[in-house]
Amino acid sequence: MPLLTSLLGYPRIGAHRQLKTSLESYWTGKGSSEELLAVSAQLRSEHWKAQRRAGIDISPCNDFSLYDTVLDTAVTVGAVPQRYRHLPALDAYFAMARGATEHELSALPMKKWFDTNYHYIVPEIEEGTSFALNLSKLSLELAQAKEEGVRPRPVILGPVTFLYLSQGSPLHRLPDLLEIYRQLLEKLKAEGAEWVQLDEPSLVLELSQELRQAHATSLEFFQAQKNRPKLLLATYFGSLRENLDLVKKSPLDGLHLDLVRGTQDLASLLEGGCPENLLLSLGVVDGRNIWKCDFKSAKALVDYALSHRPAELLQLAPSCSLLHVPYDLQLETELDPEIASWMAFAEQKMRELVALAKGDEAALKASLELSEARKASTRLFNTQVRERATAVTSDWLSRGLPFSERSHKQREKFSLPLLPTTTIGSFPQTKEVRKARADWKAGRLDQAGYDGFLRAEIAGCIKRQEALGLDVLVHGEFERNDMVEYFGQYLEGFTFTSNGWVQSYGSRCVKPPVLFGDVSRPKPITVDWSSYAQSLTVRPVKGMLTGPVTILCWSFVRDDQPRSETCRQIALALRDEVVDLEIAGIGMIQVDEPAIREGLPLRKSDWKEYLEWAVDCFRLATAGVKDETQIHTHMCYSEFSDIVEAVEAMDSDALFIETSRSQMALLAQLEGYPNDVGPGIYDIHSPRVPSTEEMVENLRRALDIAAKERIWVNPDCGLKTRSWLEVEGALRNLVEAARQLRAEISSPVSSFP
Ligand code: GLN
Ligand code: ZN
Repeated sequence: MPLLTSLLGYPRIGAHRQLKTSLESYWTGKGSSEELLAVSAQLRSEHWKAQRRAGIDISPCNDFSLYDTVLDTAVTVGAVPQRYRHLPALDAYFAMARGATEHELSALPMKKWFDTNYHYIVPEIEEGTSFALNLSKLSLELAQAKEEGVRPRPVILGPVTFLYLSQGSPLHRLPDLLEIYRQLLEKLKAEGAEWVQLDEPSLVLELSQELRQAHATSLEFFQAQKNRPKLLLATYFGSLRENLDLVKKSPLDGLHLDLVRGTQDLASLLEGGCPENLLLSLGVVDGRNIWKCDFKSAKALVDYALSHRPAELLQLAPSCSLLHVPYDLQLETELDPEIASWMAFAEQKMRELVALAKGDEAALKASLELSEARKASTRLFNTQVRERATAVTSDWLSRGLPFSERSHKQREKFSLPLLPTTTIGSFPQTKEVRKARADWKAGRLDQAGYDGFLRAEIAGCIKRQEALGLDVLVHGEFERNDMVEYFGQYLEGFTFTSNGWVQSYGSRCVKPPVLFGDVSRPKPITVDWSSYAQSLTVRPVKGMLTGPVTILCWSFVRDDQPRSETCRQIALALRDEVVDLEIAGIGMIQVDEPAIREGLPLRKSDWKEYLEWAVDCFRLATAGVKDETQIHTHMCYSEFSDIVEAVEAMDSDALFIETSRSQMALLAQLEGYPNDVGPGIYDIHSPRVPSTEEMVENLRRALDIAAKERIWVNPDCGLKTRSWLEVEGALRNLVEAARQLRAEISSPVSSFP
């Protein structure tokens, strides 16, 4: 008998992003709610059919969502804040997800789902909220699944992770919430659910005393509940390590382990007294990456499990929900066949599971041959890159002089006014810019035509910045569709899918580049654009690059070597670009690292190692320049007290950060930051044009924490999503704010009329 196979979740946006289309049409009032719900039902049906065709035995249900499953959970347990409650159900749902201007309701905040690029809606549980069960979505989807003849296993986010992820982590509400889960499970049983998958991914984290206690309480509660379906406790995104004890103490009926990231959990469990009758779901196929499964190690794990446990107590599954991978490799027609032969999307991963479950000898043999071929492929290795990477010594990581000394040379070279003004890099990506790019891609506009268009955009952008009176200019990034994809396209070692979409939030999807091999830079990437921009003005134009850690974090990365090594190769390629910009006469170069914080491992104990190599890679990319060349960096988040030392260690000459949304609260965290800093003095994420007075206020706060000589004046992120009208209005006020404060600072006290 082959082992049973199951999935924890399936992508829901549609292989052709049908849900996106339908949602957006509903939101703009073109489509009706009936149409939206029909498309949703159709998608669920197609997804179950695909699973059945692939041979998956147990299918998830309630893994579908119109926006987000954490938000769905909030609705299911009645955690809807009062201010949304007067609206009809669907309107309230989308108002929480994305705000409703017509009702003056803003959206609930959004956060990254563990260390993925998926974002969930952060529930808000008001003190007065009494939870109440709303089973409509679950019942509907369960009924549909049964009707379609699948063997459904409803998925529900567990109560502890749900509370933990909610605003303020109100774990003290657990007893009330457990009561709702009790009812929920009873009802699901009555509706015919044999098993329910209870997701508790927070079990892979380092648990505080309180969180650990909450998990213990919750597990005991479910263990004691009689009238309920069987429960599979699903953990993923890492190893349970010490938390395995919690689970062993109060086992439910089944346990899913992520054996890709937490391989060692299996032996700890099986050797250390696995509870009798506990069904184990072995997450052997990587749900977080797009590479084919290494059957040899997967099979070894399965065999090992089989040597300790009867087959009836084992199931095979992906490591986590397949939400984080694209649908189907078959939809890719442009990929290089050799590279494509190494890849597996959701459709292929299901087939891998089934082959493993059957112990399919032919599939196993083919997989072994393929992985040998991949290891030997010349596409993967570049001797020069490898030799260079091994030759890196610590002096490659340091600028010549320390900041305190090199900054004088830079001040002399640029002779900027106090409180110099600048921007973060991009200027509006207008309809015209997007159209020209689309025309060029489709061959309707030739290379010369496109280059000419971009030059004209750059020239226009420089003129506008000069007219506004900005001190340090940028070229505007009109040639870039995306800050990672653009660089990937010019680097060896990357490839791109045409349909490899993954949901980021709501209807929004991303198509991450695929980093498959050694990374090198055949020729300069941005030098022509930056030099052209610099040739148009006497003011300094800063070069603009995406940093190595961000390129790594926002791509699907090869799994055959440590990420640190891959990152080092990207850093070396960028180092050449930085030096080439300098040679071309670009005196300031900004290397953006918006992803450095989100790359942090889930467990704090793993942070140090990550931050060490991440900082080293940034330094490797940037330290090749002379002392008088100024390195800038930008990060778009305001929560960084926990990495402030690492940010300091990056040693960029000027740090530009997002601050305005947190009312400059993060400035406090920056006290003592030794290099120049540009705390964003207005929020670019809103179309509102802030007044000069507001910006003066924000600047004053910045002046309270850092010496005036070290402060820059700038917006808090790139301007590509804004219109020129908004941008020019805001920057005019920004320049004026800097002027006012300069006047104040340079002529203190006695300015009698
Ligand atoms: N330089 C980029 C821009 O201005 C930075 C984008 C980002 O921080 N995400 O758009
Ligand atoms: Zn930013």
